[in-house]
Amino acid sequence: MDFTTIQNLVAIYGTPTLFLSENRLRESYRSLKTALHGVTLHYAVKSNAAPQIVSILSNEGSFFDICSNGEIDVVKECAVAPQRCIHTHPIKRDSDITYALNYGVTTFVADNEHELNKFIPYREKVRLLIRMSIQNPGCLVNLSHKFGVAPEKTWALIRKAHKLGLTVAGISFHTGSQNENALKYIEALEYCRDIYRKAALYGINFDTIDIGGGFPISYLTPVIPLVQFCQPINEYLDRFFSKYHIIAEPGRFISGPSVTLATRIMGKSLRNGLWWYYLDDGMYGSFSGKMYDHADYPMWVERGGQRHSSVLAGPTCDSIDIIYNDISLPRLEIGDLLIFKSMGAYTSASASNFNGFPQAKIVLINSQNESKPVIRNS
Ligand SMILES: *Cc1c(COP(=O)(O)O)cnc(C)c1O
Repeated sequence: MDFTTIQNLVAIYGTPTLFLSENRLRESYRSLKTALHGVTLHYAVKSNAAPQIVSILSNEGSFFDICSNGEIDVVKECAVAPQRCIHTHPIKRDSDITYALNYGVTTFVADNEHELNKFIPYREKVRLLIRMSIQNPGCLVNLSHKFGVAPEKTWALIRKAHKLGLTVAGISFHTGSQNENALKYIEALEYCRDIYRKAALYGINFDTIDIGGGFPISYLTPVIPLVQFCQPINEYLDRFFSKYHIIAEPGRFISGPSVTLATRIMGKSLRNGLWWYYLDDGMYGSFSGKMYDHADYPMWVERGGQRHSSVLAGPTCDSIDIIYNDISLPRLEIGDLLIFKSMGAYTSASASNFNGFPQAKIVLINSQNESKPVIRNS
């Protein structure tokens, strides 16, 4: 998308707006589907629960990873069959389990004994994945700090589940989000191999392995090409897990690149020799990902000229609402557009309406239905 196209769209829809490209979304899904051949992709709704995304992916044939009653409502609203969903939150109330069961979801995740006990009343209809923790200090977001049983304790938990009469379908893990090290999947799979071998000896019949999400995208620096990234994972799976149903839970890789944010400068001020620019979207909005997801997005400014150290702040009255304390920018004017790319994952998902500033609306573009885009929060 070039700057003029965005300007024309902004003339219609205003700012702040998150432009969701249907073509780009489909392309991400298809490229991962091809790169991880034979793996069933369950899109992690957590990364971006916009109904437009869920509907498009559902239409592509995607499966889904949901974690809460609210996410169940989203997939339900998009007419996704429950057989295409797995519930991956390791900690649930009984009411969460029954909500999912009533919808028709029957695959759940557990990572401790207390959680296993909750499934005893439903053991006839439920299959479990045991979530194993994989430490990965090198990635953007560690998803094994809060959840997952240590690899060396995983087998004992599986035996416990088996003794309780529960069906364990296999192991799930998450190597960490925006994980640029493919060997982390191999490390996890090595642990799994050992446990799957033991399970077979004990007559515990696993049929599934869930390799989680984590597939990285390019933000400010390029990541290695997807096909290359997936190669060792494919090789390992082909070699040792060819008999199993393999699933993955990608979020960021699918939703991230498909969204472009258009935001505008509302005001500017020279404070202590430094230019401050106030945008109509900020840390409490689409840039919440800078805080929670530790992500940094590629920026596009139309104006040229000499660059100066500047401050980019959001619209709210809170001093924490600063996107960049020190960023090199040309001299900007009130009304200028700033464009940020790869804003699809963990951005609007964690945005709020703090201080009465509405969240950026989502407008679907590059779509078969382009003449009537779907707008949220309008
Ligand atoms: C967040 C999450 C995902 C998605 O991770 P990405 O890094 O966005 O691919 C998948 N599975 C679980 C259990 C998660 O918590």
